[in-house]
Amino acid sequence: MLQQTQVSRVVPKYGKFLETFPTLHHIARAGPKRVTEAWSGLGYYARARNLHALASVVTNRGRNTEGTLPPDAESLKTLPGVGAYTAGAVSSFAYERRAELVDTNVARVLQRVFAPKVVIKSGAGQKRLWSIARAILPRTGKATWTHNQALMELGALVCTARVARCAGCPVRSVCATGNASGTR
Ligand code: SF4
Repeated sequence: MLQQTQVSRVVPKYGKFLETFPTLHHIARAGPKRVTEAWSGLGYYARARNLHALASVVTNRGRNTEGTLPPDAESLKTLPGVGAYTAGAVSSFAYERRAELVDTNVARVLQRVFAPKVVIKSGAGQKRLWSIARAILPRTGKATWTHNQALMELGALVCTARVARCAGCPVRSVCATGNASGTR
């Protein structure tokens, strides 16, 4: 639901959606039309259709009541509607696996800290940033949970698109951009 939609719009819908569809099995059994109707107001209905298709896959067309998402990012990426970011987020946050994730905020932080010359929006830039994200993962899945949360928070609150608050930044001592700026 949070792909392309603000948290404030999702929160009221999310609880109600879970009441209607408490498990992936419920979603798979409901049929795509009912899932899309329950999605109403959130827009981007392809997400609802993908969610239904995903539920159908992991529950073997609704036959398996215990169907759950796989824990590893590579398997998650094979499911409908699941891209690299979502796979990394589910794997690291729900299953505490060592999985990297790069969203807009994380990409900006990694670029400023490790690779200021990288063009974030280019294919090569994205490849490099994902590879940096992988290289700096902590050793355990549990620590990865905290690490990924911290990277996202850093990008949302300290190293933002509008301003880099280097003076109070906890990673300034290792940051290529923060160190170079001097006066920020
Ligand atoms: S030191 Fe500055 S540029 Fe580097 S991560 Fe922190 S806020 Fe961003």
